[in-house]
Amino acid sequence: MRRRLTSFDKVPALLWDDWRWQLRNRITTLDELWRVVPPDESETERLRHVVAQFPLSITPYYASLIDFDDRQCPIRRQVVPSIEEIEDSGGVEDPLGEVEQSPVQNVIQIYPDRVALTAVKQCPVFCRFCFRKRLFSTAREGAGCGLEKSIEYIRGTPQIKDVLVTGGDPLIASDSFLERLLKSLRSIPHVEIIRIGTRAPVVLPQRITPGLCAILSRYHPLWVNTHFNHPKEITPEAQEACDKLSRAGIPLGNQSVLLKGVNDDPDTMRELVRGLVRMRVRPYYLFQCHLVRGTRHFRTTIEQGLRISGALRGHVSGIANPLFVVDTPDGKVPVLPRRGLKRREGDFVVLETFRGTEWREYNPT
Ligand SMILES: *Cc1c(COP(=O)(O)O)cnc(C)c1O
Ligand code: SF4
Repeated sequence: MRRRLTSFDKVPALLWDDWRWQLRNRITTLDELWRVVPPDESETERLRHVVAQFPLSITPYYASLIDFDDRQCPIRRQVVPSIEEIEDSGGVEDPLGEVEQSPVQNVIQIYPDRVALTAVKQCPVFCRFCFRKRLFSTAREGAGCGLEKSIEYIRGTPQIKDVLVTGGDPLIASDSFLERLLKSLRSIPHVEIIRIGTRAPVVLPQRITPGLCAILSRYHPLWVNTHFNHPKEITPEAQEACDKLSRAGIPLGNQSVLLKGVNDDPDTMRELVRGLVRMRVRPYYLFQCHLVRGTRHFRTTIEQGLRISGALRGHVSGIANPLFVVDTPDGKVPVLPRRGLKRREGDFVVLETFRGTEWREYNPT
């Protein structure tokens, strides 16, 4: 399916559908950008400063999803730079203290039994709200820097049962790199599950090739968590990518970030989670947006997040409910609506339902 996209209109399907072509033709300058999205010409000079600090990168595919007639387009808002990024002097660069929580290069360990392995420091698209925004500037660093040491650390730490391969976006790497990485992780007897966190199905669905699926399926149990934020991202291409992964036996989850002006209302979120389960992707987490320098304009309050997650519960399938979490330096903290257990009355507890009614459940001590 092709959309309104001026300078890419004549690209043959054979190239358009090739993920390497998509990567080679990423939009990385404002001049290229204004050829494919409605320009913000009056701001171009100031935006140059933004891009100098936080680089720009958008795949032609993802750019093609931007609605030309809508300045507030939720796709545009996620990837087109905004001057608000440099007007934000608050926030910190590394809100999770990941630099300190790293026992060895590329490994972040908060929990005793699982680690995040930042295997690849690049992404096909730079999301303007990214909490690893500090890494954008070093984003040209090659895949796999110091990875041998990271893997040796995991091999020498038998408590680690679960390795979450993240980034950047690991699926920007080549098949052969991924195969080598998965093979060495699988050769560690105590690593029970491997998880990959990737935005590829959303921003570069062409990456999910039969060859890649064949590789991934050799290292089961392997789970993939992806990152859809808005129902407009659920395109036929994205559906096909998720379908291929599912057929390779990979359970799919989704982590969204709550973003002002993108998905911070119950209707959008309901549409998103329904679309996800229709393509067999289980909503897993809904994150509160971090206080990272340059992302203030995306932040909503935790109370707003609670209202939204409360508006899902009972109104969409149980399997379509993500857990609303705040990520802290000490791990993810679920924030639940104050429904449920209200109080005890003698031999009963009083429960509040999604309808707002109270139910007295017999529950003698
Ligand atoms: C999110 C995260 C994990 C995985 O957490 P789950 O709740 O198991 O999905 C592991 N390590 C780090 C450092 C993380 O940030
Ligand atoms: S794909 Fe993930 S890591 Fe990469 S820029 Fe987007 S949010 Fe950040």
